[in-house]
Amino acid sequence: MSEVTSVPAGVAVSAVSVVLGIEDDFGVVSVARTGPDQVRVVIEQLPREGPCPACGVLSARVKERPLVRLHDLPASGQRVELWWHQRRLVCAEALCERGSFTQTSDAIRQRARVTQRLRDQLARSIARSNRAVSEVAAEYGVSWPTAHRALIAGATRWLPEPAPTSRLGIDETRARSVRWITSDAGWIRSDPWMTSFVDCSTDCTSGPAGSGSLLGLVPGRSGACVRDWLTAQTPEFRAGIDLVVIDPSAPYASGIRAALPQARIAVDKWHLVSLANQMVTEVRQRVTRTRLGRRGTTADRVWNNRLLLLTGADHLSDRQWDRLMAGFDTTDPTADPTGELGAAWGVKERLRLLLAETEPSTIRWRLADFYDAVIDADMPETTRLAVTVQAWWPAILTALTEQVSNARTEGFNRIIKQVKRVGCGYRNMINYQRRILTHIAVTRPCRSTA
Ligand SMILES: [Zn+2]
Repeated sequence: MSEVTSVPAGVAVSAVSVVLGIEDDFGVVSVARTGPDQVRVVIEQLPREGPCPACGVLSARVKERPLVRLHDLPASGQRVELWWHQRRLVCAEALCERGSFTQTSDAIRQRARVTQRLRDQLARSIARSNRAVSEVAAEYGVSWPTAHRALIAGATRWLPEPAPTSRLGIDETRARSVRWITSDAGWIRSDPWMTSFVDCSTDCTSGPAGSGSLLGLVPGRSGACVRDWLTAQTPEFRAGIDLVVIDPSAPYASGIRAALPQARIAVDKWHLVSLANQMVTEVRQRVTRTRLGRRGTTADRVWNNRLLLLTGADHLSDRQWDRLMAGFDTTDPTADPTGELGAAWGVKERLRLLLAETEPSTIRWRLADFYDAVIDADMPETTRLAVTVQAWWPAILTALTEQVSNARTEGFNRIIKQVKRVGCGYRNMINYQRRILTHIAVTRPCRSTA
């Protein structure tokens, strides 16, 4: 380290402390250039006395002046090698057992080697533009654990208490592909799911935290993780929830009933439509296998119509409609002589009609129509769908009359994917969850106030 230039003590040095933004608490003792883009700055605290942390008595009697290296933000594009000329003071109170203590500053936590403002900057850099911890750590010349600890500290400050809502949405998100990891007990399957808690209120007056915002995210998708998250919230938050929108998931429902006995449960109707589509696909595959003794191929009309079968009848063009109906022709041996495919499609469409209703009288009528179609179809797949509808009926009725669906945070899945890509996958679900939440916490406020 050759000292190319040195700044003399006095006026220039106090100007340097202004440039560094530390003049309130610190003065600059010396500045020296140590490289083309690096300077060494020695600072000391301006107050020459400090209170003893044990007895509170002020002392100015210096015992030692240790020199401590600190990591700080770059200044004017130059890396700053910051040295703090500390004061170790002798306690002035004769009865105090403390003996001596080190003078402290708000800008630097006790025993820390990183300034508070660098910690804030590290956390913001990682969370806002969703960069890798290692990349940000290298840019600021700190270690990975230091940058990671800064992010954790930032997360606890940024993640606010969930805003109260009367309608809570709970949804599962696939966090990554299934993987097996070794543990003391042998190989265990890691649960790649996360449960998200979303504000489902359509009320615009609920402010920036309003509709669709993410309130919480926990690893797993069990009833226990729903119950634990809810019980960790304030009693006011729990009492304010009137309606919870979920997928038709029995564990979620049991978790809600345990933590929110007063809340009504509504089932997200799009999940029911997807169950109905799944049912149609199962029937198509079974019919094809039974008739042809193999899987369907492009040569088979049943296979060619596989996407038309899943399209809502109201979205089909005239030509598509004709093609679909030709596929249901029971007199045509190349189509579906059993009539099962047409029956399954009819059940699916009746469920879609039912789920589009909001008036209790028409809902009753559409439900009877759906059950009639199921009885006529008389297939294991359609019966299973009807059993699901029956089991969830009170929650489905609530969803229809209250007109709720599980609104997802805008771009939420995109954020999850980006975070996952940056981290090249996460082994630790808590880290992963924190990255997603801090990214949203840091980036979303700007958007909602705009
Ligand atoms: Zn003392």
